[in-house]
Amino acid sequence: MNTPLHVKCAKCEKGAVVRVTYARLNLCSEHYIEYFEKRVLKTIEKYGLFKNTKRVLVAVSGGKDSLTVLRVLSKYRDVLGVTLAGVHLDLGVGVYSERSREAALSTCSDHGVECRAVSLSDLLGYTLPELVRKTRRPPCSLCGLIKRYVFNVAALEWGFDVVVTGHHMDDILVFRVKEMLMGQRESEVAKLLPFTPGVTGFYAARARPLYEVYEWEIELYSKLTGLKYVEAQCPFKYRDIISSSVAEMLGKIDSEIPGFKITLARRLAKRTRWDVNAEKITPCQYCGMPSSSGVCALCKFTLKTHGKPMGLVVREKLKSTKPI
Ligand code: SF4
Ligand code: ZN
Ligand code: ZN
Repeated sequence: MNTPLHVKCAKCEKGAVVRVTYARLNLCSEHYIEYFEKRVLKTIEKYGLFKNTKRVLVAVSGGKDSLTVLRVLSKYRDVLGVTLAGVHLDLGVGVYSERSREAALSTCSDHGVECRAVSLSDLLGYTLPELVRKTRRPPCSLCGLIKRYVFNVAALEWGFDVVVTGHHMDDILVFRVKEMLMGQRESEVAKLLPFTPGVTGFYAARARPLYEVYEWEIELYSKLTGLKYVEAQCPFKYRDIISSSVAEMLGKIDSEIPGFKITLARRLAKRTRWDVNAEKITPCQYCGMPSSSGVCALCKFTLKTHGKPMGLVVREKLKSTKPI
């Protein structure tokens, strides 16, 4: 992307604010917003994200990605024929979490989307920094484990068919290419597909409407539409050397071959199988949620931190969480 000066929009007489290099289009603000939304809607249609879905739960962190997805879905919910709600998990990471919660709740309310906020300290008795200090586990892996469990259980307990997340193409490609470099088996990298089907009673489906969208496109969309997202990054965020190198390499290829990342993302989506089904799932002996060995990741983790499995407690607490 670069911003041309004194260039007209390809669709109207106004000045362009952006050049979308891979599409060879100069667009004004209004037509960029329209273009971006169409791309997201196309992704939803192409991958059948809401084909069998009526009730959609959006994981709203308060950052630009999740607020963008929330805005687009709320604008087109009637066209898509879905009922929307938001879920926000407060990680208890100081001011960052306070601002994130505020951004998530106010954006949901501005867009007429009912939201339920849950806090990690309510669910597990500890904030994320406290759990990190207690366990010395890498914060992002811990956070990922908790979010996966909480959002999945929230959807199942509250009667939603699908959880929508704001993962975008740049991050997904870095993750997938990195895992390939590290020799992961295909099934292990199949997590970040545009759509992963649900398994009744165990998994809500997962949908990623920003699967084919560049991060810069989201940033521009959220700025032009005035979304009040949290610009600060989570203090735990860090990028390891392999991820940064992969990101740099992909960025370099994409600047030489505009649209390369989109082609790669489409190929990966086509070639990756998702073969989870009910027969292969062992319910956790403590909470009944999916596990590979009889104890789910959350119960395994809390057996160490709390001296007891907390899965059922978390399920009960989520069940009684009401919309704000
Ligand atoms: Fe969680 Fe890591 Fe993201 Fe912070 S940076 S919200 S710890 S995944
Ligand atoms: Zn225009
Ligand atoms: Zn469990």
